[in-house]
Amino acid sequence: MLDTATIVAVALAYLGLLFAIAWYGDRRADTGRSLIRSPVVYTFSLAVYCTSWTFYGAVGTAARRGIEFLTIYTGPTIIFLGWWFLLRKIARISKSQRITSIADFIASRYGKSASLGMIVTVIAMIGTMPYIALQLKAVSTSFAVLVSYEATPDLAIALTSPPAATLTDAAFLTAIGMAVFAILFGTRHIDANEHHEGMVAAIAFESCVKLLAFLAVGFFAIFTLGSTATPGAGEAAMSAGWSNLTRFPEGGSGRFLTMTFLSMAAIVCLPRQFHITIVENVDERHLSTASWLFPTYLFLMSLFVLPIAAAGLSLLPAGANPDFYVLTVPMTQGHNGLALLAFIGGLSSATAMVVVAAIALSTMICNDLVMPVLLRIRWLRLEDRGNLATLLLYIRRIAIFAVLLLGYAYYRLTGESGPLAQIGLVSFAVAAQFFPAIIGALFWKNGTRAGAQTGLILGFLTWAYTMLVPLLARSDLFSGSILEPGPWGIAALRPEALFGLEGWEPLTHALFWSMAANICGYVLVSLFSKQDTLERIQAAIFVDVFRRPPAEAQVWRRSAAVEELHALLQRFIGTERADRAFRDYAAEHGQRIGDMPEADADLVAFVERLLAGSVGAASARGMVASIAKGELLGFDEVMAILEETHQVIAHSREIEQKSRELEATALELTRANAQLKELDRLKDDFLSTVSHELRTPLTSIRTYSEILSDHDVSEEQADRFLDIISSETQRLTRLLDTILDLTRLEQGQAEWRMADVDPSAVLEDAVAATGGLFRGRQFDLKVAIEPSAAPVRADRDRLMQVFINLLSNAAKFAEPGDGRVMVVGRPDDGGYLVEVTDNGEGVSPQDRELIFEKFAKARDRNTGRPSGSGLGLTISRHIVEHHGGRIWTETPPTRGARFCVHLHSVRPPSGSRKPALAEAAE
Ligand code: ADP
Repeated sequence: MLDTATIVAVALAYLGLLFAIAWYGDRRADTGRSLIRSPVVYTFSLAVYCTSWTFYGAVGTAARRGIEFLTIYTGPTIIFLGWWFLLRKIARISKSQRITSIADFIASRYGKSASLGMIVTVIAMIGTMPYIALQLKAVSTSFAVLVSYEATPDLAIALTSPPAATLTDAAFLTAIGMAVFAILFGTRHIDANEHHEGMVAAIAFESCVKLLAFLAVGFFAIFTLGSTATPGAGEAAMSAGWSNLTRFPEGGSGRFLTMTFLSMAAIVCLPRQFHITIVENVDERHLSTASWLFPTYLFLMSLFVLPIAAAGLSLLPAGANPDFYVLTVPMTQGHNGLALLAFIGGLSSATAMVVVAAIALSTMICNDLVMPVLLRIRWLRLEDRGNLATLLLYIRRIAIFAVLLLGYAYYRLTGESGPLAQIGLVSFAVAAQFFPAIIGALFWKNGTRAGAQTGLILGFLTWAYTMLVPLLARSDLFSGSILEPGPWGIAALRPEALFGLEGWEPLTHALFWSMAANICGYVLVSLFSKQDTLERIQAAIFVDVFRRPPAEAQVWRRSAAVEELHALLQRFIGTERADRAFRDYAAEHGQRIGDMPEADADLVAFVERLLAGSVGAASARGMVASIAKGELLGFDEVMAILEETHQVIAHSREIEQKSRELEATALELTRANAQLKELDRLKDDFLSTVSHELRTPLTSIRTYSEILSDHDVSEEQADRFLDIISSETQRLTRLLDTILDLTRLEQGQAEWRMADVDPSAVLEDAVAATGGLFRGRQFDLKVAIEPSAAPVRADRDRLMQVFINLLSNAAKFAEPGDGRVMVVGRPDDGGYLVEVTDNGEGVSPQDRELIFEKFAKARDRNTGRPSGSGLGLTISRHIVEHHGGRIWTETPPTRGARFCVHLHSVRPPSGSRKPALAEAAE
């Protein structure tokens, strides 16, 4: 049983918890241990987007209009996935310009224009009122639903009747509570960056709560649907419900696209969204996490909308308001606790929205509406007042109260007009009016202040006429039928069919005309009006933010007395922080402020930027102007400087490019030089090795010939010596032949007689040719040669040379007493593989590469074995690689060495046909 006291107590306890979190967040921020320096907290705070409109209304929309409810999620998803293009640029600009609100952003871009700031602020206020009213309505109605369900299960009647006095009081008290929260955590002090850490932490927490509450109800709905579906009537009702839910919205794709566009614009342009995404952002990198995490949050929020709607349609009487299925579905099953949790979720969504919106609006009202006016009023003598920070704070606090009271008033006046979603869309459509000016601000340098003003005003008026008028006309306030046929009886001016555009769905119709008026006004007037100098500079700073825009100080030739600047700053941000700012500036520029007779243009611009962080760009400009002397350069000079900066940038890019090229060339040269040196060293090595190899036979030849000529030797001895001399000479000749051969191979002068060759036949010939070696040593030679599947393209004699070299190495290195050698040839991997395995000492792993080098002989060898030239494998490798094949050595499972050669076939072996070559070889 839920009674009023319980609900109120739980709600108050929950609000108390939020206060505690915000208080703790602020305290942590003060001690420099921020709670919100996390991309996850940032993302959750972004979920202030999901207001009670989403929390309750999405289910309502789904029940009424099928999958159209998805559109409020698709727009933000698109914008966040594409954060690189839009949000990143806005965030970068806002950080460097210390932007405080969306009004400030637009005003700043179009020449720090106070009038533009005012226009945006007024429009934003009017647009936000219905939205706040919507939250108040959601809170009070959901409260009423909880309280009255037991007494009047037939909810339909209770909820369509006008709000009773007590319930309205609930809305009023809620509004007051929210105002207190916003004041406590949104206007604690004037921050140079407009950061409210405690408030952000509380909002992030609220987003967790509402997600959990919604998921809980979602799971419950699925569970209930599964278990209570009684055969027969229930099922029929359910399937009817489902088919309604999953249909495409009426009004077709037009409305679907309109709503998607609206929600895209809204996630960028709603004042509270701009505030939380851009102004409260502490680290640009958080955006990249949010780019996928925020869409994930939205996805989770939308996951159970359809099941809840289906459960509501099948469990509740036909007249029950689908906007509150989230509450009533658990209540039908007597789960009051769950309903209470859902109520807290809805309360969370509403509070978050109202608090952030109130803070954002109060900043705008203070900076862009009140301050510019106060600065104009001479007799207030603002410049003589000591501490303006307190004044600012009071203005903001009053503004927060005013905003909430206005929201409440709107709620009372319009009462029960339309379902939740309809009211929310009205606000979205207003926010969308800022979209053209913002897109232009980011990408179009020629957009002018006059253009932006015209676009905004035209768009807003058209919106008011096509959307607000019909809405008010249908509310309790008016009973007249001004919708037909339009004021003064002119048919063409009917608000919902402007200029005879009939048959369009009202939202698409209103958005179409207001955007058309807005964009045309903006573009056309921009094309026909001139920018003044400051606009020109700001345009360059905004559009070129990623390409080193010109510094403001370059074009403002201003100076001011250092003391006066300091005094001005101090009045807004306090003595201590003003001192610190000046110290930081001095440290960064390596000068002492005290030594400066006059502040230069750079320091003036610095102070103006700091001030802008507290009072907005337009007001800051006005105040600095009152104490700084000097002029903005003429338009032509500014143009020249902007041009120049561009040329300088282009030029320095060219230089960078050139120096990169030079570096690359230098690197190449160094590498080439190293290569030459290495070659030189190799040549020396080669020469000394060759000389060494030649000397051994030459020495023995010389020795024996000297013996022969000088001494008396017997006939027998002489024969033996002559034999030795002759064999050494042959060895010398062979060595020289081999060296010559290698040189030719290395220099690419060898002649190749390429033909299609059967590798298995060549291998057999090589085995036959070396057979004598094995027989002589009584080695055991096993041969397993399979026919090759396809020929290889090769020089037959060279291939033979390779195989013979491997075979004779095996004969040389196999175990002397008990030599066993195995020759295998088989098709493999699109070619032919030859393996020669012996049971000798093998090649140690560290020698595997080395033995293919010139004159390489594996270490600690040669003892007792016939020594070769050490060139055989080198030559073999040259030959094999010339054929595009591979040669390598590995260790067989048992003892010994295995040398492998792999050659590619001319064409891949054809599966079925037995290769002709193999047959020919048989
Ligand atoms: P050589 O003419 O000296 O045999 P190679 O280039 O053919 O020159 O071989 C280089 C070295 O590789 C040999 O000196 C030997 O140390 C090592 N080697 C070659 N084949 C084998 C093998 N089957 N077993 C062990 N070591 C081998």
